[in-house]
Amino acid sequence: MLNLVLFGPPGAGKGTQAEFLIDSYRLIHLSTGDLLRSEIAAGSSLGLEAKAFMDKGELVPDAVVIGMIRTTLAAHPGAGGFIFDGFPRTVEQAEALDRLLEENGTPISGMLSLEVEHQELVNRLMGRGLVSGRPDDQDVSVIENRIEVYNRKTAPLIGYYGAQGKHFGINGMGSIPEIALRLKETVDRLPR
Ligand code: AMP
Repeated sequence: MLNLVLFGPPGAGKGTQAEFLIDSYRLIHLSTGDLLRSEIAAGSSLGLEAKAFMDKGELVPDAVVIGMIRTTLAAHPGAGGFIFDGFPRTVEQAEALDRLLEENGTPISGMLSLEVEHQELVNRLMGRGLVSGRPDDQDVSVIENRIEVYNRKTAPLIGYYGAQGKHFGINGMGSIPEIALRLKETVDRLPR
């Protein structure tokens, strides 16, 4: 069983690299951003509540995303492992995830933390905004807020997983295949 946290600031390439990892290791991809955008597209009340936070680049409340993760984990009882993309984003979410996985007896194997320079993040997100149609990728002040929220609320998770000996920093600059190779070399060394 391989449970990976794919970590990094907005624009670090988590979604892109998750695609490679899913194929290589047959994991279930669990992106809270994708789940929230599906809720918005479906016009659910959860989606409506989340959209107000997402459009400003703020985090959706912990209880909402933890509830979504709980439901999705329960929907895949025989899974060979999960890749968590964009979750956890707060210490409270990380603690909730540890508790949920403990119930299943399958802890996090490692946190892969993509490291990318600030200006490169902004460039990538603005570039994605031209094609993704995502409102939060269109406006430079929302992009800067997302990075600021990451630094303040999410980056402390490096210490959280580091204390468990599970933090692996990965150079996230360079080409997509180069970064994919760095991730694979790290994952292949993880205990499972
Ligand atoms: P992402 O697709 O991961 O870039 O997420 C897009 C937006 O969805 C974020 O800016 C947040 O508003 C919201 N979001 C996604 N995942 C989480 C999470 N784990 N906790 C809180 N908000 C989240």
